[in-house]
Amino acid sequence: MTEAVQAQTLGFQTEAKRLLHLMIHSMYSNRDIFLRELISNASDAADKLRFAALENGALLADDPELRVRIEVDPEAHVVTITDNGIGMSREEAVANLGTIARSGTEEFLGSLSGDQQQDAQLIGQFGIGFYSGFLVADRILVESRRADLAAEQGVRWSCDGEAEFIVETIERAARGTSVILHLKEDARDYENDWRLRALVKKYSDHIAIPVEMRAPPPPPQADGDAAEDAGGEAQPVYERVNSAAALWTRPKSDIGDEEYRAFYQHVSHDFREPLVWAHNKVEGKLEYTSLIYVPAHAPFDLYNRDAPRGLKLYIQRTFIMDDAEQFLPLYLRFVRGVVDCADLPLNVSRELLQRTPAVDTIRGALTKRVLDLLEGVARDRSDDYLAFWAEFGNVLKEGLGEDHANRERIAGLLRLASTRSGDGRIGLADYVAAMGPEQQKIYYLIADSERAARSSPYLEVFAKRGIEVLLLGERIDEWAMSHLREFDGKPLCDISRGELDLGEAGEDSAAEAGAEPAERDAALERLKEALGERVAEVRISTRLTESPACLVLAEHALGPQMRKILSASGQEVPEAKPVLEVNPDHPLVARIGSETDSERRDDLARVLYDQAALAAGEALEDPADFVRRLNRLLLAG
Ligand code: ADP
Repeated sequence: MTEAVQAQTLGFQTEAKRLLHLMIHSMYSNRDIFLRELISNASDAADKLRFAALENGALLADDPELRVRIEVDPEAHVVTITDNGIGMSREEAVANLGTIARSGTEEFLGSLSGDQQQDAQLIGQFGIGFYSGFLVADRILVESRRADLAAEQGVRWSCDGEAEFIVETIERAARGTSVILHLKEDARDYENDWRLRALVKKYSDHIAIPVEMRAPPPPPQADGDAAEDAGGEAQPVYERVNSAAALWTRPKSDIGDEEYRAFYQHVSHDFREPLVWAHNKVEGKLEYTSLIYVPAHAPFDLYNRDAPRGLKLYIQRTFIMDDAEQFLPLYLRFVRGVVDCADLPLNVSRELLQRTPAVDTIRGALTKRVLDLLEGVARDRSDDYLAFWAEFGNVLKEGLGEDHANRERIAGLLRLASTRSGDGRIGLADYVAAMGPEQQKIYYLIADSERAARSSPYLEVFAKRGIEVLLLGERIDEWAMSHLREFDGKPLCDISRGELDLGEAGEDSAAEAGAEPAERDAALERLKEALGERVAEVRISTRLTESPACLVLAEHALGPQMRKILSASGQEVPEAKPVLEVNPDHPLVARIGSETDSERRDDLARVLYDQAALAAGEALEDPADFVRRLNRLLLAG
């Protein structure tokens, strides 16, 4: 026992140390958020206790009304936030308050700009929670006792903003946690009762448990002081400052946009405004309420596979779990919010959620709702939608492969560059609307980057005939587009694959071919000889008007992006020989046909082939060989 009581001085984890330093020494703007973060933690602690009490009712029995209290001692310049929630053991206090468990902390710290205003926004986005206390305090004490531990097993954690903190075991009669903030000299305006009330109303009104503050003393009575009559100091009276009803349980018509936004910040830890939200109560065979938000900005860990995702799950207003990921498909993992379902058992586990048909039904409905929301924004607020697309577009594209039932709707939400879009982005519907009467297909091209796509030789004939081509340059595009065969009844066509048939739109091509047929055939023969096993075939191209040659993949062969991904992940990449297509009108091709020196012919053929590979964004098998051959040709010229 004595050992446990002993105070222990411990160091912070490196990231926590840096964050702390930042909070204490450099953040002066937007400090208001500390209160909302601490109340949010208190509310989470209340949720956790209520959940634990489902199994063990005794935890709640002696003090059943969950609440948060804010107390001020203006003489000592101390503000204390106390909850009667789940509390912490000594070990938990060390683990939870000495480290930052969140993924992405490193990125967060790296992205700080040094600009107060911007960095404060980032802190809100990152939701560093507890540490925000150090925005206003230079010394913080946390006293806590876990609900299922004895009074002697309380803990005091204290830190004066330096690299270390102290923990000691204390006696604490009440379960739950007090966060005791010793205000910095320049933060003493937070001692002001009305200031604190205003902050609670503004940022924490939606918190489902009461947030209480001391009621103002009653006006003195004419017939003497009541407290003195009672013989001793009066018990302070507390009053509720917030609405204290879970936001989603209230009727939509009663809730203002400000309240919806504040609730978004509570569930998402994102300080900025959400893009759009939907609040729905569903009645009938399955009863549930959902309040879902689409963020406007991506979190740091959007691409981290282990990052928490999903909705907060409540069952008849009792909090069950965070990050219930079963209610949304993976490609909508950026959606935040709450689902409160009446029909699930209170002891539901993650495993059980996976096997519950009601959950599938809700997931289907929520998916449609999110797509509705996005379509609405795309239609009515196209600039906002484009900004959303820039942040989340690559995640949404995953849906093309993941969600067959909604593929057409997801395709409608794509915003892509095209040969006509300039810097802008167009939707597939815009593309189809602009198609000429003779055009049958939606044409696209995938390259390593949009820029590489824009100058690709595959576009030449399309440019000549004025046919628009969509240009894709993201890593996910080849995989995603392989799942999209048509849109609005029009087939999609990758212009770097297969034989190109422009139909009526490209009909005059044959008539224009200028090279002598004999020379052409000779060139094809010699190229075949020189390239041998490297290519599946050498043929005349209908794609090229300026470049001498290009490589073409078979319709269903793996493209360069997928090959790179496979080989990077150590998997075997199946061999797929390309077809070399040549432009018979190009003088280089004619020269290969007429060149009599066999070594030079070989050089020309190999350089032609390597150029085509380079233009397609592929790495050369033997770059030094390419350089040698090219230089020989340059000097011979
Ligand atoms: P987050 O809330 O995002 O997890 P915080 O830094 O705010 O991060 O808090 C870290 C952890 O400390 C919480 O996850 C929780 O386990 C614990 N904690 C913080 N405040 C309280 C509280 N009032 N009651 C119980 N546990 C708390």
